[in-house]
Amino acid sequence: MEDRRNLPEAFRMRMKRLLGTEWEAFQASYDKERSYGLRRNPLKSSGERFMAQMPYTLEKVSWAEEGYYYQAEEQPGKDVLHEAGVYYIQEPSAMAVVEILDPQPGERILDLCAAPGGKSTQIAGRMRGEGLLVANEVIYDRARILSQNVERMGIKNCVVCSEDPEHMTELFPGFFDRIVVDAPCSGEGMFRKDQTAVEQWSKEHVRMCANRQLTILKAAARCLKPGGVLVYSTCTFAPEENEGTISRFIGEREDFFLEEVPCDGTFAPGQTEWAMQPAPGLAYTMRLWPHRLRGEGHYIARLRRQGSLDGVFPGQSCDNRRKKSGKDRRHAGAGQKDPTEVLQEFLVKELGLAEDWLTKQGGIVSQFGEQLYLVPGDMISMEGIRVLRPGLHLATEKKNRLEPAHSLALALTAVETERILELTHEEAVCYLRGESVLRTAQKGWTLLTYSGYPLGFGKAAGGQMKNHYPKGLRKFL
Ligand code: SAM
Repeated sequence: MEDRRNLPEAFRMRMKRLLGTEWEAFQASYDKERSYGLRRNPLKSSGERFMAQMPYTLEKVSWAEEGYYYQAEEQPGKDVLHEAGVYYIQEPSAMAVVEILDPQPGERILDLCAAPGGKSTQIAGRMRGEGLLVANEVIYDRARILSQNVERMGIKNCVVCSEDPEHMTELFPGFFDRIVVDAPCSGEGMFRKDQTAVEQWSKEHVRMCANRQLTILKAAARCLKPGGVLVYSTCTFAPEENEGTISRFIGEREDFFLEEVPCDGTFAPGQTEWAMQPAPGLAYTMRLWPHRLRGEGHYIARLRRQGSLDGVFPGQSCDNRRKKSGKDRRHAGAGQKDPTEVLQEFLVKELGLAEDWLTKQGGIVSQFGEQLYLVPGDMISMEGIRVLRPGLHLATEKKNRLEPAHSLALALTAVETERILELTHEEAVCYLRGESVLRTAQKGWTLLTYSGYPLGFGKAAGGQMKNHYPKGLRKFL
């Protein structure tokens, strides 16, 4: 039969040799339609509420708590609920990585290769707004998309930055409880959905990716606390980039070991004999094969650094660094009100939030130019870091008044203020296009919701609701 995906011949030969009797089944998977997935955002919606409101034919992804398959023709990516951050479109196999990472509320977690944000937004859902998530993406334009997704999903405790992994080791030595390295790879596992990956494939590219992965992994290792967990993943089948990279890494970092992850046999074990220099525990790593499950090809390894998380860690205490630098805060001059007090008054009086809303969030109010952010308490000073989002954007100072940030709208729930206006579907579509809503509830700032989920702010005046949806995000659904 003619190969309709034009798979590179050298790739076919290698896979045939490695897979033996499974080759036919593997090859046949390329003639099948791929699966489509979306992931519920637990920061916004409970499972029950989500299922009651979603108008799509959804089927559970067995290995991902919040994951569902959807029918491609239903296009849930073009939906008001998607813009409200109720769910994230994500390939089903990719959802397994964060399940293996097992993030916990209150931890310090780094997603080192984070754009466009599938893993970061999933991690944030598990952290429930508690602790610090640093989402880093070296390519700045991709980091901007990551930052938009962090905003859309209503994440409060995430710092988005754009740094080379090597520089991260200087900034955050031994700092994180968990790290995920979802490494750039040759993308063989995505051949079914990404023709560019097929066209760019070559043996040399695989080799280059493997060397780059080792460099990234070594940098990640230096950012991890003793006793911490490091999850490495790729979306390729190439042994050099999977068992190969892991065994080279363990060869250099003997204080790391592979951990067994209980799984019901859905994922196949990594292959010890596929590594040039076998390392103990390679069979604990996981391969997700498209001919064995409903998802694309992936590889996942869970490593732990020896030591105890309760020990004394290298790296400076974040509190000391913040106090020393103090540069990200602007202090009130004589006779001027403290910016935090002004903000507090604004949140209560103009947005209708509870008196204790700000203190309950647990971060540190910091001012960067005209922008007021809530920086997660554990974050180090921002000095010397290319930061796109230093935490939750709360407000912008404009000529002695404040304007609420779009991020704040998306991070709120409709029960946190009575200053809301629930939009019809037609009104919501117009709002996302940037049009005014021809209806108001009360005068002033109003949180506009659809199906009970915030979409953004509007400001009522003269019987109309002025649109404050950011221009750059406007959508024509
Ligand atoms: N984790 C992301 C998600 O779930 O949405 C996908 C990450 S993608 C597989 C790998 C990322 O690594 C890309 O965004 C790519 O730009 C980034 N990258 C490329 N070269 C890199 C390098 N030398 N160091 C670190 N990251 C790199």
